[in-house]
Amino acid sequence: MYDVIILGAGPAGLTAGIYSARGGLKTLVVEKTGVGGQTAITTDVVNYPGIISIDGFSLTQTMLTQAKNFGAEIVVGHVDSVSLLGDIKSATVNGRTYESKAIIVASGANARKLGVENEDELIGKGVSYCAVCDGGFFRNKTVAVVGGGNTAVEDALYLERFASKVYLIHRRDSLRASKILQDKLLSSKVEIVWDSVVDELVGSPLSEIVLTNVKDGAKRSVAVNGLFVAVGRTPSTDGFEILNKDESGYIVTDENMRTNVDGVYAVGDVRRKPLRQIVTACADGAVAVETIISSK
Ligand code: NAP
Repeated sequence: MYDVIILGAGPAGLTAGIYSARGGLKTLVVEKTGVGGQTAITTDVVNYPGIISIDGFSLTQTMLTQAKNFGAEIVVGHVDSVSLLGDIKSATVNGRTYESKAIIVASGANARKLGVENEDELIGKGVSYCAVCDGGFFRNKTVAVVGGGNTAVEDALYLERFASKVYLIHRRDSLRASKILQDKLLSSKVEIVWDSVVDELVGSPLSEIVLTNVKDGAKRSVAVNGLFVAVGRTPSTDGFEILNKDESGYIVTDENMRTNVDGVYAVGDVRRKPLRQIVTACADGAVAVETIISSK
């Protein structure tokens, strides 16, 4: 029997693991893929206080080491099911059931899709949701990034290292990305295609995208080898149907990270919050554990 099971090992889950194990709680952290969540695939983290610049993989590996050093156990596997009601909670991972007194949901968010025909079929054949993972396959090729947020701009700048030509396609005429990233983008060679959406994916592997200008309806074909989709993320809440969510599907908590179910907490990108950053994810993890310890 664990005191706490943490579902997800991004910065929120790992910080919860550090605080929980250090606080003397018997702690299990479960991760379904690789440790580190979205942060692990971030090339350059420059706004985590106290660290000038670090790649996300190294940062989260250090968090993992910290959690383990304090005694947290880590298991990597698929969460088949969870049982959240009652005093004893459980999570079944790869067929094995683990029980605990509290559960912290730190499952983060997944890449949102464009919803264009053939998108799923072309994953791995030109369509990608992770520039850091797949950018290297597009050396001296032409690629396009879709989106106008920080991720899209960072991805476009990152892809410039490999690709011979990078387009950034955005549905409006101004970017959502931070000013500092916009400035970098404007001084790069990335070609921005404003007011445009991707309507069609042509070829397998991908060889062309068809864009529609949302202002005048004009269509334009662009020859590309790769399309990187960076249009935001949706929270990973499969299995957590009984938890209250907001209109966008994020788990609603109070300021102590409590959900509507006793003994169940939500932290990081999966919960409703005003700012999704590593620093706020870490803070959530610490607060949830402090709430558990102080309510014992
Ligand atoms: P985001 O900020 O939600 O931006 C998503 C972008 O995709 C927006 O520009 C949006 O357009 C566009 N979009 C959404 N749905 C679309 C669709 N169906 N078709 C075409 N375009 C679509 O997402 P994000 O860039 O992944 O960032 C997520 C969070 O992580 C943000 O809080 C961000 O600040 C943070 N983040 C921070 C950093 C950093 O600090 N270095 C790096 C990466 C991410 P509209 O603008 O028109 O809505």
